[in-house]
Amino acid sequence: MDYIRKNIDEIRKRIDNSLAKSNRQPNDVLLLAVTKTVDIERIRTSLDCGITDIGENKVQELLSKYDSLNTNWHLIGHLQKNKVKYIIDKVKLIHSVDSLELAKEINRRASNLGIVKDILVEINVSGELTKFGLDFDKAKELIRSMQQLDSIAIKGLMTVAPFVENGETNRTIFKKMYQLFVDINQTSVHNKAMEFLSMGMSGDFEVAIEEGSNIVRIGTGIFGTR
Ligand SMILES: *Cc1c(COP(=O)(O)O)cnc(C)c1O
Repeated sequence: MDYIRKNIDEIRKRIDNSLAKSNRQPNDVLLLAVTKTVDIERIRTSLDCGITDIGENKVQELLSKYDSLNTNWHLIGHLQKNKVKYIIDKVKLIHSVDSLELAKEINRRASNLGIVKDILVEINVSGELTKFGLDFDKAKELIRSMQQLDSIAIKGLMTVAPFVENGETNRTIFKKMYQLFVDINQTSVHNKAMEFLSMGMSGDFEVAIEEGSNIVRIGTGIFGTR
């Protein structure tokens, strides 16, 4: 499984280059390894190579791997309200909160456990192409309502940009996301700065970093084609 180490080293180099290019500090980006369809052995190899955080997009798959691995778990895929209870005490960050109803359910469950859950709000930047995420135009208003919920902490924004041959194609989208991130920080109800902008995948993470991303979610770039 040497290819995993080679891929991670290569991606870290490319992350560092993009950070340097945009005058940002080294280590200013979290490399989140996306492990959907990846077996435990290969995930272990990635953890041996310094990966600290992994992302799964399905609740069921996350639960099936959870007991075998000691790491920081992120839920990055669509979350149904009735599944919140299964993962609330297991994940460090939920990237995919895309409705007030879902935010309320996470808030209710977190409150019952006496914890505050860190979440990101998923924004739909590609219109018709994806089903999930808050409409860009309605995001600010909805986030304002979510900020009233005491047992969630809105830590930032996430987006899944369209799949493109050339990452450069998504630059406008990433710029738009960064602008929204800054805007929301300035109008935050709690006056608490948001920390994370989760954008960029195997095909476009360098452009995303240049435009301000600080969490990149990489699957195929590390583990190969699914
Ligand atoms: C699969 C997935 C990724 C990783 O995609 P790659 O192109 O394999 O890097 C990132 N984010 C989400 C939400 C995903 O489902």
